[in-house]
Amino acid sequence: MKAWWKPRTLRFRLALWYALGGTVLMAAFSATLYLFVAQRLAAPLNQPLRADLAIIQARLRVEPAGSISWDGRAMPAAARWETSDPWFELWDEQGRLVRRCWPFTEDRLDRVPAAPTRGSDTLSVFSIAADIPLRVYSTPYPTPAGPWMIRVMRIHEPAADALAALLAIILFALPVVVALLVAGGYLITRRWLRPLERMTRQAESITAENLGQRLPESGGGDELGRLAATFNRTLGRLEDSFRTLDQFVADASHELRTPLTTLRSVGEVGLRRGRTVEEYREIIGSMLEEAQRLHRLVERLLELASAEGGGKQVHREPVQLDQLAAACVQELGLLAEHKQQQLSLTAAPCRVQTDPVLLWPALQNLIDNAMKYSPAGTTIRIAVAAGAGECRVSVTDAGPGIPAGQRARLADRFYRAEGARAGGGFGLGLAITQAYMRALGGRIDYAPAEPTGSCFSLILPADRPRGEGS
Ligand code: ADP
Repeated sequence: MKAWWKPRTLRFRLALWYALGGTVLMAAFSATLYLFVAQRLAAPLNQPLRADLAIIQARLRVEPAGSISWDGRAMPAAARWETSDPWFELWDEQGRLVRRCWPFTEDRLDRVPAAPTRGSDTLSVFSIAADIPLRVYSTPYPTPAGPWMIRVMRIHEPAADALAALLAIILFALPVVVALLVAGGYLITRRWLRPLERMTRQAESITAENLGQRLPESGGGDELGRLAATFNRTLGRLEDSFRTLDQFVADASHELRTPLTTLRSVGEVGLRRGRTVEEYREIIGSMLEEAQRLHRLVERLLELASAEGGGKQVHREPVQLDQLAAACVQELGLLAEHKQQQLSLTAAPCRVQTDPVLLWPALQNLIDNAMKYSPAGTTIRIAVAAGAGECRVSVTDAGPGIPAGQRARLADRFYRAEGARAGGGFGLGLAITQAYMRALGGRIDYAPAEPTGSCFSLILPADRPRGEGS
């Protein structure tokens, strides 16, 4: 069954719970108050009646035959009442009135009390005339003549009405208070939740086109304010991501345009007139070269997208950084030889918890850059060192180095330092390396080398607990 209040607003539900809670509390409080007052008021009121009963029991005698005596003297059927005597009635087992002893004469009475309920104690108020309310206590009165009832009476004090008045006030006040609670709860929750409504409206109007907009943050730093601030920070991050994405798309399309234009122009020029086979071979060769470059660029872009977008899973394992560096140096050694360069390795044993699949290309990028930007005949020094809870593999070359003003942007996508464009790179290698290092919980560092050159380092936290013994 569908709960009827489910589709209602949060405000409605809050007000409802508020009212329900308030009502239960008020009812409990009123009941406690009433019972407490009733007990406090009833005790002094009933006390004299019980005292009267004790006197009657001491002075009244009922014989087995049914004759009645008072203070040892036979009590006449029409009992005479003395000012000091208690008022009472005696009812026999048949429910017939045996004696009535009170100061009222027939002409003062509008009505007389009916027979008491047999066998039980009852306490009540009964008016025998408009101006004569009686407080009446009936109780079984076992006699040798049978199980009779006795009814003791006194004038009902007005103080006893206070209890009835209290009950009336409670019964009247309770619905009023509940109504006020409902109205108050509804108004208060409406007021408190208004910022939420404003936030909802504002959030609904935010799209990819106006990501710069922010939700109103209510002052005072309450829960809603914090929610809005958190939402705004998320929007800020989203905006950054969108901006980066836009930038990336713009940069990528710019980078792709150049090789595509070259490809088309070479083709068009080649077809403009008839050529010898040799010329065609040369044209197709340069078109293939450009296509290859395009292919590499697309691959690099995909690699960057997957490195930055968290597409790569990180599978950590204990890795000897010195051995990984040695393997990398060995693999790139031939290429270096081809460029008449040398790779030298100085490696101290150092173990890290990392993913070698991601660390390898990161290191390869650095060595590749060092070879790319250093002149022939120079040596590229690769060093692995441990210290201060970290392991560091550095690649130092004797190239031109990077001017201080350009270092901060090295890891930006498509950034190429002045004069580096001729190197044929896309400006993506360091961005990819940085993304890998982030994924591995490490970082990339740059320092100039002496007398000239660059020193790029990959820094990872050392695998301390198990690394020391190995
Ligand atoms: P690229 O593919 O252009 O090499 P990178 O992201 O690897 O892209 O490098 C960005 C830029 O940083 C390069 O264009 C180059 O200007 C500079 N750079 C990187 N490594 C070196 C180095 N070892 N020596 C000098 N400049 C370097």
